[in-house]
Amino acid sequence: MAAASANIERPNSTHIARKKADKAFSLPFGMVDCIFENEGPEHTFSMLRPLLTPWQDMYSRVVDLIYRKGYKIRGFHTLKKTDIGQKIVFLYHDVHFRDIVPALALAGINRQRGISSTFNLLWEFTSLDSFCRPGYSLFRHLENENVEIALHTNPVSAWLNRKVFRGDDKAYMKWVHTTAVGDLHSLAKTPLFGAYSSQDIVDKSIDYFNETVSDMKTVFRSINVASHHGDVLARAISNHSASVVPIFTGADFIMGDRLERLDIDGEIRSMARQYDLYHFNETKNKKQYLTNLEFALESEQTISMINHPVDMHQGSKRIQFL
Ligand SMILES: [Zn+2]
Repeated sequence: MAAASANIERPNSTHIARKKADKAFSLPFGMVDCIFENEGPEHTFSMLRPLLTPWQDMYSRVVDLIYRKGYKIRGFHTLKKTDIGQKIVFLYHDVHFRDIVPALALAGINRQRGISSTFNLLWEFTSLDSFCRPGYSLFRHLENENVEIALHTNPVSAWLNRKVFRGDDKAYMKWVHTTAVGDLHSLAKTPLFGAYSSQDIVDKSIDYFNETVSDMKTVFRSINVASHHGDVLARAISNHSASVVPIFTGADFIMGDRLERLDIDGEIRSMARQYDLYHFNETKNKKQYLTNLEFALESEQTISMINHPVDMHQGSKRIQFL
């Protein structure tokens, strides 16, 4: 038996990605897309209500608490200097493939209650995200004053995975875990990057970023901001190097001179830093989530607030930053 199974072709990372996605979704996105297209959001949300309820219940409690404390909720594209000092929660959601259905749930509440927030889609980041493109694309039916669409990414990682490793997620992950790079200069010196200088790595990452934004614009009306994805590359580099090289985290890449070359207005975390917003993160202890939020709201400061929609759920084992 063992000898026979050894001859079976190993699945490549795309197969693995599909398998993961199949497990994660009980919802055929094509069908939901058809319902949105033909019946409109109202009808689609009422059909999906039983599926969306667990996330909608928790999100409604969060929204109720924010309003009870006298705060308004807004998306990041509207953030401006004069907002600072006002009781506003600038709310954003990092949407990975596992967040797609829960993010629909949140978008439904936004629509019901006239809330606006920013949905950062992990668009064309890995081959799994390409496979889930029909799910991410559902948000085109909801893009309006309640749902601002943005890009969730790490420019250097995205370019490496999709262009250098040609979307082979598994090979890319293996390389990340076995390559001791601490900075762009040492990355450029590794055999794989013999052809690229440090400047090339920056330029190519900018090119892939802009390519991704223009690809999103074929589906969505506008993409104004991005949020950084704290991925394996940034973590591996911080493990290998005493001082983390900022360029490997999206938040530090998408700023300064580079921002001028990127086809967006700003990155959420660096905007929050620039305006010195009170950052309300997710927490490992979900029982403390609402207590911690109440504490943050009592500061009366302007707040930036992140969540991964899948964790906006009473039953979630994990409410934490990713
Ligand atoms: Zn992320």
